[in-house]
Amino acid sequence: MNKQEEREFIYSKHKGRCAFCGANLEDKWHISPIVPTETVVTKKGDIEKINDEIENKLPSCVSCNLSRIQLSYGEKIMTLDKFKASLLFSFETMLKQNPDYKKAIRYGLITETKKKIIFYFESCEVTGHDWKTTGLGNDLRCCAKCDLVETSGN
Ligand SMILES: [Zn+2]
Ligand SMILES: [Zn+2]
Repeated sequence: MNKQEEREFIYSKHKGRCAFCGANLEDKWHISPIVPTETVVTKKGDIEKINDEIENKLPSCVSCNLSRIQLSYGEKIMTLDKFKASLLFSFETMLKQNPDYKKAIRYGLITETKKKIIFYFESCEVTGHDWKTTGLGNDLRCCAKCDLVETSGN
């Protein structure tokens, strides 16, 4: 697989959508690893890339991938957990301090949901629901990931 074919394959993984925020990818998009890629020097002195397999590569919009890069750490890319924590941190510290944001809450234009951040590639839309029986009705079931409740409807 050449570079171009590899890019096309990665693009199609999520049908042209960003694996993190789910936005449709524009002409410019980035490849972002699930587990950060590392470059190591072997005992023999060869340079080897770890986690560089195509299975580890996700399509990402420019904005998501750039916010995953830690400028202060030699442009290292964050793990997914760290990325989520940093997104939450910037919403808490930057967005919520903004007087216009507070105003928009008071006017009811924005409603906070307290939802956890779930990346698009982890979402029920991509991976399917994780149904559990609720014990409420015979055929009422609940998704353990997104809390959707529905009848199993046979
Ligand atoms: Zn994105
Ligand atoms: Zn679900």
